[in-house]
Amino acid sequence: MRFVDEVPERGQYDVLVAGGGVAGAAAAVAAARAGKKVLLLEKAQKLGGLATLGLINLFVSMCNGRGKQIIFGMAEEFLRLSIAHGYGEVPKDFVNGRIPEEKLASYAAAGQLPPRYLTRFSPEIFALELTALCAKWGVDLRFDALLTRVKMDEEAGQRTVRGVVVEEKSGPAYYGAKMFVDATGDGDLLLRAGVPTAVRGNFHTYMGLSLTLESCARAAKTGNIGAATGYFAAGEATLYGEKHPAGLPLYDGTSADEVNRYLLQNQLEMLEKLKQTDRLARDVVTLPGMPQFRTTRRIEGDYVLQESDAYRHFDDSVAAICDFDRRDYLFEVPRRTLVRGGWANLVTAGRSAAGEGYAWDVLRVIPPAILTGQAAGLLCCKALDEGRPVHQTDIRALQRELERQNVLLHFDDADVPRGSRDLHEHND
Ligand SMILES: Cc1cc2nc3c(=O)[nH]c(=O)nc-3n(C[C@H](O)[C@H](O)[C@H](O)COP(=O)(O)OP(=O)(O)OC[C@H]3O[C@@H](n4cnc5c(N)ncnc54)[C@H](O)[C@@H]3O)c2cc1C
Repeated sequence: MRFVDEVPERGQYDVLVAGGGVAGAAAAVAAARAGKKVLLLEKAQKLGGLATLGLINLFVSMCNGRGKQIIFGMAEEFLRLSIAHGYGEVPKDFVNGRIPEEKLASYAAAGQLPPRYLTRFSPEIFALELTALCAKWGVDLRFDALLTRVKMDEEAGQRTVRGVVVEEKSGPAYYGAKMFVDATGDGDLLLRAGVPTAVRGNFHTYMGLSLTLESCARAAKTGNIGAATGYFAAGEATLYGEKHPAGLPLYDGTSADEVNRYLLQNQLEMLEKLKQTDRLARDVVTLPGMPQFRTTRRIEGDYVLQESDAYRHFDDSVAAICDFDRRDYLFEVPRRTLVRGGWANLVTAGRSAAGEGYAWDVLRVIPPAILTGQAAGLLCCKALDEGRPVHQTDIRALQRELERQNVLLHFDDADVPRGSRDLHEHND
């Protein structure tokens, strides 16, 4: 193995983003829009990560469940992008981020809850759109580029990442940068940079996109191709672990052996299940191109978001987000969940942001992952412009820029259900 210093250098950047999932794409585009020279490294052959390669083609709800949109910014932009030239739509009731009062009243009168602001989308078309967006903003895209090693400097207790080694078709290549975003979802860069991290096991979930004669007939009848595809599952475990086979150990998504145990078990199981069905009545059109692990490795950030932080305001919030499952639940995401003091130029985003237990789940899904990506990209720009470590940048300046980009930083206290936030009257 060659030492980092012997690997040929292929470029120097202002901001290097590792991992081209939704979080990485958002970080890269946000930084490029701010005028920085940006490199986006992606080990696969298309952008989008779990949302495209992983076939998780649903923007979960971006509203509070009472007709008010909470998540905006680049999450709204990406949602629109995902359905601009592909199937999927958001409920028509929403006008400028809200369901009008009269409409809400009509749902209430009918004893119904209003629809939530979410949509399915075509994973392949969304991947193409993300590529086009990055190209439009001048992001240097490097597909088929696996980050393997990191070059670090340490001075007076402050660690600085100088560059990364990437395995490409032509061999190892070194890319240097001033700022780094780890959006690999697995904390690959964090780990190699020595940042403290935490890991969590995964349930048995593996779904391919499928067609059936029935779903095709439904699509033809409704004139909506989106109705044609569904899921054919091997592992069917839910987010809460329901349907996880008794006795099957959780998968540790951070080890090669475990990734292979997961893939082998699920692929054999899927074939067995397919054998039980009519071979002419269905097909699996795509297998997931990456393991469908919800949580693997995340930063032990300067703050770790907790479920009990629902309805808590944070002075350093970079986004207000909502719970995708429970109506009314609102959170704010402190900048501290994306950084670790002592690492001057390294930020994380997406599913490796710091959340504990269910708060990790609320934080990692597609819309919040995009918002933490946007915040991480802009935070790198601010750190560069101000010449300060990422955790010591002027938070107000970052927040002003996020607000200018249509990110809601703080939820409205009027939307907190009565009696549910007696604990959190102060900021911290
Ligand atoms: C089973 C399941 C169901 C889900 N359901 C939903 C849902 O319905 N709605 C929803 O909103 N969310 C859902 N989620 C969560 C959501 O899909 C993800 O949390 C979100 O897409 C994460 O985005 P990300 O950009 O942070 O990470 P990822 O999507 O994991 O992207 C990371 C990217 O980095 C690349 N990468 C990794 N390591 C390296 C490396 N060393 N070098 C270079 N590149 C690297 C990967 O190839 C990938 O493209 C679900 C997740 C799972 C697993």
